[in-house]
Amino acid sequence: MALRDSWIEKRLSGEWQVAGGEQSGTTPSTHGNGTQASNGRNMSQMHFARQGAITEEMHYVAKREKLEPELVRSEVARGRMIIPANVHHGNLEPMAIGIASKCKINANIGNSATSSNIDEELKKLHHAVHYGADTVMDLSTGGNIPEIRKAIIDASPVPVGTVPVYEAISRVRRPEDLTFSLMLEVIEEQAEQGVDYMTIHAGVMREHVPFVRKRITGIVSRGGSLMAHWMEHHKKQNFLYENFDEICKVFKKHDVSFSLGDGLRPGCIADASDEAQFAELKVLGELTKKAWEHDVQVMIEGPGHIPMDKIKEQVDLEMEWCHEAPFYTLGPLVIDIAPGYDHITSAIGAAMIGWYGASMLCYVTPKEHLGLPNPDDVKQGVIAYKIAAHAADLARHRPGARDRDDALSYARFLFDWNKQFELSLDPETARAMHDENLPDDFYKEAKFCSMCGPKFCSMSITQMAEAESGQDQAERKQKFAELLVKVQGAGG
Ligand code: SF4
Repeated sequence: MALRDSWIEKRLSGEWQVAGGEQSGTTPSTHGNGTQASNGRNMSQMHFARQGAITEEMHYVAKREKLEPELVRSEVARGRMIIPANVHHGNLEPMAIGIASKCKINANIGNSATSSNIDEELKKLHHAVHYGADTVMDLSTGGNIPEIRKAIIDASPVPVGTVPVYEAISRVRRPEDLTFSLMLEVIEEQAEQGVDYMTIHAGVMREHVPFVRKRITGIVSRGGSLMAHWMEHHKKQNFLYENFDEICKVFKKHDVSFSLGDGLRPGCIADASDEAQFAELKVLGELTKKAWEHDVQVMIEGPGHIPMDKIKEQVDLEMEWCHEAPFYTLGPLVIDIAPGYDHITSAIGAAMIGWYGASMLCYVTPKEHLGLPNPDDVKQGVIAYKIAAHAADLARHRPGARDRDDALSYARFLFDWNKQFELSLDPETARAMHDENLPDDFYKEAKFCSMCGPKFCSMSITQMAEAESGQDQAERKQKFAELLVKVQGAGG
């Protein structure tokens, strides 16, 4: 039995409690499970939160985030936090995306028409989750897309996101053959399969398209370019915008969250913060309110390529125009001249935007702009983004965020090399680098490493200086031991 089966069953049978625990919910009783779903009822976390109920998912998130359950409920009700948790994704371990919770990272996986298969995608999923991705997006555009997605959802303890237009395009001959009914069919199928959040490019309007002619790189979002092509071909408005309520009706039934796509995000530094980008962002704010009228959870996608001096403005405008819905950004890359190293160019921007208030950072791998990432590229991207998100958590003083840094620093000063490796974001790499010059077990307690050698190790010399004045390391050892309990208790 999956973790959430009994929770969902309870809500379906009407046994849910409002905050304070006195009054129970009034959902009419039906028999069934998540798979049989909600018969059209609103199953979204936001819907329950707005009626005062603290769901099991909210309790689970509160524990993970070291927050009060009531705070989680009120943030979800307000729309400032989302818990992407489709009722059909039973083995999901619920997590939250929002300003009050820790900064999250997403890893994109999925095949293309030219590369990859199910085993390779599951390997990427494993790498992504193992190294700490909080969500994954299956961006498959080739092969048997539903089969790959099912395998990913079944194997994933983290929320799975998709971009439904990719599958819709695979079902037609040309982009202009797309119709809203086909899109809705795909959206509904994916919702029934258990997709937790979907990127919907409903904010790209026909009147925005001329703005991109001034750009160097035009439209770099696949979804954005497809919608622009469709609108120009048919001389009609975006059908996702015009039928947005229909999508909300599907989303609330299965509790799918919107990731409102930034189809006009800038694709190079020269195009950053332009008219096209901001025109779309304003429409995303309008759509956020519409989704909230249905109690559907929303996050807003953001750029892209932005120089460091324009990053804060991005967050400020998103918060103002999109009513503080969680901001989910791709990077941003802060320079354009380092293909092969864009996990670094973008992690710099990601750390900054996370610090200013973005809630989730979509990773960029070293392969960005060059090819489909392999499992090792996925690892490099995830680690770069764990660093960025953690830097943001420290700068925002999130509860308990610094404990692991302090524990690792004690391990470092006390020359507990094994603990230092264990507490690292990538223990295998840290150990392998130490072993390169000093492989013997003896050196795992040595009071130096190969960087400065035994005579010049400043931390060892500090300990000697302290010993000269009669101090030992007992206090540091005690604090280290206490922190280890805290960090290990919190899952390391
Ligand atoms: S030798 Fe240098 S780098 Fe190595 S532990 Fe000592 S101070 Fe740090």
